[in-house]
Amino acid sequence: MTINACVIGDPVAHSLSPKLHTHWLKQYNIDGCYTAERILAEHLADGIVHLRDEGFAGFNVTIPHKENILPFLDEYDALAKSIGAVNTVVIRQGKMLGTNTDIYGFSENLIRHLKQANIPFSAAFSSPIVLGAGGAARAVVKALADMGSGMIHMVARNPEKAERLKEINVRLEIHPWENLPAILPNASMLVNTTPLGMEGKEAAAISLAGLSRDAVVTDIVYNPLKTPLLADAERRGNIVVDGLGMLIFQAMPGFEAWFGKKIECSMQDLAQLKQLLVSS
Ligand code: NAP
Repeated sequence: MTINACVIGDPVAHSLSPKLHTHWLKQYNIDGCYTAERILAEHLADGIVHLRDEGFAGFNVTIPHKENILPFLDEYDALAKSIGAVNTVVIRQGKMLGTNTDIYGFSENLIRHLKQANIPFSAAFSSPIVLGAGGAARAVVKALADMGSGMIHMVARNPEKAERLKEINVRLEIHPWENLPAILPNASMLVNTTPLGMEGKEAAAISLAGLSRDAVVTDIVYNPLKTPLLADAERRGNIVVDGLGMLIFQAMPGFEAWFGKKIECSMQDLAQLKQLLVSS
């Protein structure tokens, strides 16, 4: 019997997840189907009950439902609870169980690239700066703390909103955007979690002049793959990590839970998957 899974969101048509999961389904010859389902915010509760009743094995959750979905699930695990967001739901025996794999996706992508570049974790995570305080920043700061970060410096245009991320129980210092030049020279890593640099949006107006050449620069925006921030950092000789790997790694636990196959992914596989996803 065909196993069904999907990604729910609004908008969702742009999602690369169907292309990624369909590639793995073909690669492993699995009788499965993964689609994108647009569910409006006001239909979230009914929409996911419908998926359950249709026999779906589970689904991914994207904007704007990652936080709002929690009360409609039968259970969610400690990871999801820690950041207040679910991006993966597994349906078993009629129960909807939520977790968060964005934390794993960000960590695994970063760890793979640090290992490849022979960068000691202690150096990379000593003093990270995170730009932005939205939903994705929650997963990023949790991942950074779990990987052994020292004080995490968060730069946000809305410091009150950033303060709320302290509930995640990580060591966080909040800075207004205009303080970035002052704190940049001490950064071991710079992580962009804002949509700045995304296709159709303005680029981040950041001068990297004070940043150490040893600092790692990573952007979770993956459209384009090389954002203006990453291009600038690469020109200066910084190690850069793009955001598409995060999307690929966050997808793997869901694929395994729904379709029963653990994905093995070498750095070469990762590069090929990225090529596949960026090709039209
Ligand atoms: P979000 O919840 O809307 O948060 C965006 C954050 O960026 C907010 O803190 C927002 O500030 C800030 N921001 C937006 N425009 C800004 C500007 N012009 N100047 C300064 N700060 C600005 O969005 P999200 O869900 O966190 O997603 C953020 C980005 O990450 C998106 O581009 C998304 O596609 C990408 N993403 C990638 C992955 C991946 O797998 N690679 C996963 C998740 C998300 P305010 O709070 O003041 O509005």
